[in-house]
Amino acid sequence: MFENIKMVLFDLDHTLWDFDKNHEIALKNTYDKYIKKDINFDELHLYYNKINHKLWEKYRKEQITQVELRTQRFKIVFEHFDIKLEDKIKEIDAFYLNSLSQQKETINGSFEIIDYLNNNYEIGILTNGFESTQHKKMKSSGLDKHFNFIITSDKANALKPNKKIFEYTASKAGHDIKDIVYIGDDFENDILGALNANMKAIWFDLYKEGKKDNIISVQNLIEIKNIL
Ligand SMILES: [Mg+2]
Repeated sequence: MFENIKMVLFDLDHTLWDFDKNHEIALKNTYDKYIKKDINFDELHLYYNKINHKLWEKYRKEQITQVELRTQRFKIVFEHFDIKLEDKIKEIDAFYLNSLSQQKETINGSFEIIDYLNNNYEIGILTNGFESTQHKKMKSSGLDKHFNFIITSDKANALKPNKKIFEYTASKAGHDIKDIVYIGDDFENDILGALNANMKAIWFDLYKEGKKDNIISVQNLIEIKNIL
């Protein structure tokens, strides 16, 4: 299926590092410290996720900056629930991100598939994320011990699905882009992004959306052993 592969790259959030679980813990910590008296947690969780998702879309499309993403997400949530914490937004976002980066839950099969691939290929991480947060997440979860090649969008100065970040990564790795396989959960940003840059791709269909034409996919990381 794949020939002459030299390197396998992973996305981090939702692919190896269990963003959903870790985010819920960090948001709960933030809620307990700052927001508890105003609303219940489930309401906050649901609405925050919706807003954060929308803002990340805008950030990826370069319609807003990283600073705007980080100041607007809690601001919009607080305005929606009429919570009077405008003056603490920076502190709250920093507390949340710090708590998030300390969480250690990984996706089932992460370490097993890393060990397996590491025997036959160079491995690395390519992630859209803030440089310091992504490195801390790797350390907290123990993933850092398995990777010495990590590219963040901050470092590459481009965000997935932009072709530039895949090209930058291949040039840093010193491999022809077509000899690299990218594994990620986000269909548009990871898979279409990689394929558009001529990198190979395996879609990790985390939420079990089902097969898509001409796309190689797995619903469990361990299934990658049948492909690579
Ligand atoms: Mg992801």
